[in-house]
Amino acid sequence: MNIIRSLSEMKKWSQSLRKAGRTIGFIPTMGALHEGHLSLVAQARSQADATVMSIFVNPIQFGPAEDFRRYPRPLEADCAKAAGAGCDVVFVPQKSDMYPERYCTFVTVEDLSGRLCGASRPAHFRGVATVVLKLFNIVTPDIACFGQKDAQQVIVLRRMAEDLNVPVTIKVCPTVREADGLAMSSRNAYLTPAERAAAPVIYKGLQAARALYDKGERKAVRLSQIIEEHYRTAPLIKKEYIEIVDTISLHPLAAVASTALVAAACRTEESKTRLIDTIVLGGSL
Ligand code: AMP
Repeated sequence: MNIIRSLSEMKKWSQSLRKAGRTIGFIPTMGALHEGHLSLVAQARSQADATVMSIFVNPIQFGPAEDFRRYPRPLEADCAKAAGAGCDVVFVPQKSDMYPERYCTFVTVEDLSGRLCGASRPAHFRGVATVVLKLFNIVTPDIACFGQKDAQQVIVLRRMAEDLNVPVTIKVCPTVREADGLAMSSRNAYLTPAERAAAPVIYKGLQAARALYDKGERKAVRLSQIIEEHYRTAPLIKKEYIEIVDTISLHPLAAVASTALVAAACRTEESKTRLIDTIVLGGSL
């Protein structure tokens, strides 16, 4: 497996591969890899000839009071995991190459970016859309794989790729979970033991909503209510939002008529870790 740090070398590698008529599958990540990330590698490998994973903790998607500095960066272990999963290239761009002096161009996906997580993280999706478009331009992938856990992210990026005519197919992969249902996340490492024990309630609430939906309930207020009841039983897990929204516009739904995204964000009481999870009712993303 190649580890490429320079933008020009990455471009060259992609160009030579494309010249040879081979397709590229791409997985953008911030590292601290877990099974969720590796499932995206498996998906990319099954659909493209070569697989590139980027590892870049993108400063512009973090708010001033967020965890950019302390975000885990176990690069050596990550490269070993990426190699084990069958990546051909790990692309590790440097901050100073991605955002050199005088950098001043940003991508804003309007409306979608201010909803759900965007309400409390105002510059987050602008940072995500900007870095992912830059990475798409450097890596020139045919397909790019993203996790359903970060559903708003993939909905924003799909809109960006469509609006800006980026020739990439975006694939959404199922959320990989711990045995007790907690969605795998690099941020789970921040949890105190008591918070980790309580955190599965986030998915339990979503599962309860799905069970109610399966019994025929369609009213969003009833589905959110049952999630909220679950979260109230866990004092260490504080709800930030529970929303039932359209999977394309992210506008709130009064009732689930066809497909709906059920998204929850919580913050833990002790370590102040922000955890998100989602399910989709009546279809897929
Ligand atoms: P991150 O490193 O957190 O930026 O995530 C990189 C990619 O991995 C994104 O597309 C995430 O949605 C995806 N991802 C993160 N956690 C999971 C998970 N538990 N299951 C599936 N995909 C995930």
